[in-house]
Amino acid sequence: MATFLFDKIIFGPVKSRRLGDSLGINLLPINKKVCNFNCIYCECGLTQSYLPSGSKMPTRQEIKNKLELRLIKMKNEQNPPDTITFAGNGEPTLHPDFVEIINDTLFLRNTILPSAKIAVLSNATRIHVSKIFNALNLVDLNILKIDSVIKETQTLINCPLSDYNLTSVIKNLKMFNGNLIIQTLFFNGLYKGKTVDNTTTEELEAWLNVIREINPKMVMIYTIARDTPFDTLNKISFNVLEQIAKKVTNLGIPVQISD
Ligand code: SF4
Repeated sequence: MATFLFDKIIFGPVKSRRLGDSLGINLLPINKKVCNFNCIYCECGLTQSYLPSGSKMPTRQEIKNKLELRLIKMKNEQNPPDTITFAGNGEPTLHPDFVEIINDTLFLRNTILPSAKIAVLSNATRIHVSKIFNALNLVDLNILKIDSVIKETQTLINCPLSDYNLTSVIKNLKMFNGNLIIQTLFFNGLYKGKTVDNTTTEELEAWLNVIREINPKMVMIYTIARDTPFDTLNKISFNVLEQIAKKVTNLGIPVQISD
């Protein structure tokens, strides 16, 4: 099915139910997805490479210059974004200057448009690196992915391309002491002849137990919204999302059903 790549470093703002008017920053190449996961639902398509051989990541200075110009323009037009969001063609924490770029963005936000929140959408694979953990702790919306806490399902869904220890990731998520948002995409379908479904009773019980332990400030749940690399995957209904949301609310944790 037709997936797509962002063709700019700074894109949008796009309307997002969870992030409002969101100005996007893509730290990855504009012509290639770079990720250490290969999620079977990824709207950027399948991962061709973990690291960007033959493709260029934007430099720290390039990003800073473009962001500064755009924020000044938005300020002059009195049209500030609700959120400055690190998303795009892959996993943002793989950029070698991720930490410095976060620091630059905090500085520009604070000096030009202090009302805008800074969000990072990450797959949580690099939170064991202390400087990345510390940088994520500084942003307003530290949004980290957990699609399943059952190893077999998680591997089937996210297809990690490097070592991924689910137990360690969950342990490190707890280290944020609640200063994080967990995002989970719920869906079902078939992949490589196997049924994949992270909405079963067993899946949800295990997931809720881990959510309780991590105690995030919010949980964002959503389902497939755009084309995915495989046409054997299904959205789940809004009604099912609402039932899952209720279980999270019962833990005393705010939840958002989002796009
Ligand atoms: S972590 Fe995000 S960018 Fe990477 S494969 Fe999964 S959905 Fe795509």
